[in-house]
Amino acid sequence: MFKVLQSFVVDLRDKMTGISLYGIVTDISRERNTAEITFALRIEDTTGAVWAKLHFVRSWSLGRLGLGHTVYISGLTCSVTKQKRLEVLWHENDVGASVINISCLPAMLNSSCLHKLSHLSDLSTQTSSTQICWVWMDQIEHCHVNTRLSHVLCGHFVDKTPSGILKCNFCHCNCNGEVVRTFHLKITLADESAKVFAWCTGQTASELLQISPDEFYELPEEEQIMYPSSLEHERFAVALVNCCYARTEQELDAVTWEITRALKCE
Ligand SMILES: [Zn+2]
Repeated sequence: MFKVLQSFVVDLRDKMTGISLYGIVTDISRERNTAEITFALRIEDTTGAVWAKLHFVRSWSLGRLGLGHTVYISGLTCSVTKQKRLEVLWHENDVGASVINISCLPAMLNSSCLHKLSHLSDLSTQTSSTQICWVWMDQIEHCHVNTRLSHVLCGHFVDKTPSGILKCNFCHCNCNGEVVRTFHLKITLADESAKVFAWCTGQTASELLQISPDEFYELPEEEQIMYPSSLEHERFAVALVNCCYARTEQELDAVTWEITRALKCE
């Protein structure tokens, strides 16, 4: 059964199982003080918002998920608690339980039936759904290319604590031995209509830069500085999401747009 968020309030007299939702992630938090690994996701559509609690057996297992991403979640159970509060639960091992990050699907870019092309000038702070644009990288001399370590399971950056432990910013767990090098790229994208400043990481950044983070890291410093200029005239199809819900997250430095997927145009 597929639900529009608004309809929850109306027909929730009994517990319902096997519910699916489609919406935009506008907040994520790791629930503390529980024995289980639980994350709360705030999912929003044009009719409203709900918090869904995701329970994992061992650890987060859904790959990279960020604010502004569009998700499809199936296998939810919904009920009203004694305190008359709506409770939306998802358990990793339940039959039919899945979470698909639509904003990161390769098909978003290579299946024209899944998207409609936008111009960068169409993007506004009110934009909530994933937008697909044809762009090139602009003002390439001002782009910021960094390599950082990220947590394999969730794709989010890790920081080293003063005692030398690697801590994931997203899972809030110690993840020594579970990290890979990744890019943290901030770049200006342009098309005929406008320019936007956007950020990305992971496979998307490697696709834009046409090099792996490890290969880039091995380059001498002067070559690292020169490297982006070789990409000046390359064109890409990109999926962009508005991640400005994340203003307080230091890792985003108030960049409003995240590139969730990129594909080089031949
Ligand atoms: Zn993590």
